[in-house]
Amino acid sequence: MDKRYAFKQFLEGNLQLRPSKARLKKVLVNGVPADAKVCVQCGELKPLGEYRNEEKGVGGKKAKCKSCLSAKRVRG
Ligand SMILES: [Zn+2]
Repeated sequence: MDKRYAFKQFLEGNLQLRPSKARLKKVLVNGVPADAKVCVQCGELKPLGEYRNEEKGVGGKKAKCKSCLSAKRVRG
């Protein structure tokens, strides 16, 4: 889909975003509400501060949290 067209549709509220994406939740970090999302790797709900930046990612963050990205591969 053409980006401009998609953006126009988005502005008009006609574009349905996939439910699996753009799912930000709220958590309390030191008593302060913060945006959070579930890591696709470990499945834990973590604040966005636990994710590295990803321009196209949900909330501008990668899908996997820092600890998962830094974790070395474990042999099955
Ligand atoms: Zn993780």
